[in-house]
Amino acid sequence: MIPTLDDLGDVAGKRVLVRTDFNVPMDDGVITDDFRIRAALPTIQWLTSRGATVITASHLGRPKGRPDARYSMDPVRARLAELAPGVELLENLRFDPGEEGNDPAFAASLIDGIDAYVDDAFGACHRAHASIVGPPRVLPSAMGLLLQKEVEVLLGLREHPKRPFVAVLGGSKISDKLGVVESLLNVVDALVIGGAMCFTFLAAQGKPIGASLWEPDQVDTCARLLATSAARGKPIHLPEDIVGLDAGGNFATYGTRLPDGAKGFDIGPGSAAAFSDIIMDARTVFWNGPMGMFEDDRFAAGTRTVAQAMADTKAFTVVGGGDSAAALAQFRLDDEIDHVSTGGGASLELLELGDLPGLAALRGAPNA
Ligand code: ADP
Ligand code: MG
Repeated sequence: MIPTLDDLGDVAGKRVLVRTDFNVPMDDGVITDDFRIRAALPTIQWLTSRGATVITASHLGRPKGRPDARYSMDPVRARLAELAPGVELLENLRFDPGEEGNDPAFAASLIDGIDAYVDDAFGACHRAHASIVGPPRVLPSAMGLLLQKEVEVLLGLREHPKRPFVAVLGGSKISDKLGVVESLLNVVDALVIGGAMCFTFLAAQGKPIGASLWEPDQVDTCARLLATSAARGKPIHLPEDIVGLDAGGNFATYGTRLPDGAKGFDIGPGSAAAFSDIIMDARTVFWNGPMGMFEDDRFAAGTRTVAQAMADTKAFTVVGGGDSAAALAQFRLDDEIDHVSTGGGASLELLELGDLPGLAALRGAPNA
């Protein structure tokens, strides 16, 4: 079993290390969405209200194992001080190569003077990093309230979804996500694919994709997935129209064959309507990855339409992924979603595998 906060026993007077996921979106040192900080507050308050001293620790961005002012925790620390006064926050864990290298000496330094460990960093639980898997080897440990909710919802989707269950995938982390598509086909009834991810699939269908973002070495994987989907009667829905920029940099609308030099940056209106219909007819929908480069207003329509369908559908809706959550927040639709997950890769991997390294580590804790 995975220990919960109650399994920590009396925390009064104890120093508790809480691994949080404060990997917030930043623009020039300014936090653009503090959702991940606010999401950790229930666990922090649970502990402080019982007399514990809370020390939080997180990574931020990808600083490559050395201090880098661009990824300083200072802005996060300032926001945390407003939301939870008196709670400490360590410096960016990834400033030390021992974090990603899962170095036992780094893990030992983190828990020096610490009495108990709480993992509330769902977004990092799919990584066997020092701060995730190290402390539970020695300290009484627990999953925080946020992690507990994530696990309940995502395992629920995996184990007993109301059908039809549709997964909508997009975004730009193509190869990261393609790995899970195959096993997602075991879990869902249909896949809907937009975002930059669709171009590698369109290329696998032999269509010209112009100068759009794609991953040539994943074409074979996409071709195999399309064949699997056809053989198993689980459709993969791809866009039927694309909007983007032509070779001269002018806004343009295309079918699924893009001319030389054209870049696709969003699904077109026809695809957005078709995807909405699929979402409206489903009883469970999991969405990860924006349908286009929604940060640019010209290419936000596809993501906005899909987000609106997610808000309107009667289906049970779960959204994972930092940028997908940011898009929902930007459209002010986040309150209309049943569960906005704090993890992108982690939510996909938990759906795919039913377990994560961070959860396995907690199951091995001395108090488990
Ligand atoms: P998430 O954080 O939700 O998991 P990703 O990180 O995989 O999503 O991808 C988000 C990014 O994908 C956004 O910044 C968006 O601009 C980009 N994106 C989506 N569609 C395209 C596209 N067609 N071309 C280029 N970038 C895209
Ligand atoms: Mg992202």
